[in-house]
Amino acid sequence: MLFTFLGTAAANAFPEAFCACPNCTQARTLGGKSLRKRSAALMNNDLLIDLGPDIMAASQIHRTPLHQVRYCLQTHPHADHLDLSHILSRSPAYGVVGAPVLEFYASRETLDHAAETFRRDLADFNLLSPEAEKELNFRPHRIEPFEPFRAGPYSVTAFPANHAPGMGAMLYAIEATGRSVFYGTDTAALFDQSWQVFRQRNMRFDLVILDHTYGPDESGTDHLNAIQLIEHAHRMRAEGVLAPAARVFATHIAHEGNPAHDLLDTFAREHGYEVAFDGLVLKI
Ligand SMILES: [Zn+2]
Ligand SMILES: [Zn+2]
Ligand SMILES: [Zn+2]
Repeated sequence: MLFTFLGTAAANAFPEAFCACPNCTQARTLGGKSLRKRSAALMNNDLLIDLGPDIMAASQIHRTPLHQVRYCLQTHPHADHLDLSHILSRSPAYGVVGAPVLEFYASRETLDHAAETFRRDLADFNLLSPEAEKELNFRPHRIEPFEPFRAGPYSVTAFPANHAPGMGAMLYAIEATGRSVFYGTDTAALFDQSWQVFRQRNMRFDLVILDHTYGPDESGTDHLNAIQLIEHAHRMRAEGVLAPAARVFATHIAHEGNPAHDLLDTFAREHGYEVAFDGLVLKI
């Protein structure tokens, strides 16, 4: 299974275009892995996590076509994760050739929020109607926390994120061909019930990706900071949630307390995890 990071930044990208702080200045000077677009990811060539605002740029920069994407797991409707104009951009009405129907999985709150935004800003019909399915090559699916579902070859379980109350934000455990991934952004500390479900269902991940919005000296809000990520990784290891050779990666990285890539990755490796960067492809 292949896992590609299309973007690894928090809401304002990193470096922030309008910011002259030392971290943004350093990242801008160094370039390369220190340039982060808003978070999104791709599994194999057909499962997208988040229809984010930078996926067009990511597809071009990293030479990663998205025309075979059939499934999208949407974490939540915040603007750094959901740009609904992509639903139009991949539709036959825009002359797009060959894109299959997009099976779009999200919570009720995320679907409702998307439908409201879509009607207000983009089109005069309901995104959740049969008309939209016909016009846009788009099929929404409402998912519930802790209820496993299938997305083609993938077995998926959504976990409630500790983030944006009332928005139905989700984290995803995704399994296929005997390999398992946990994608955990945006979130503060995982809920007790999530840890219980990991235990009850003997969930064991080969790859864990966690929110790392803030550096070690910044306090987390409804996101994790570096210290909290380290605590989560330790607990996962202690509770057998990580497979023996599992790797833990940080994503959703903001300029607050996080230096440019190489420095941050050195810190991370000293503490048992790694830092993702845009365009990183992992074979798991
Ligand atoms: Zn975010
Ligand atoms: Zn900055
Ligand atoms: Zn968010």
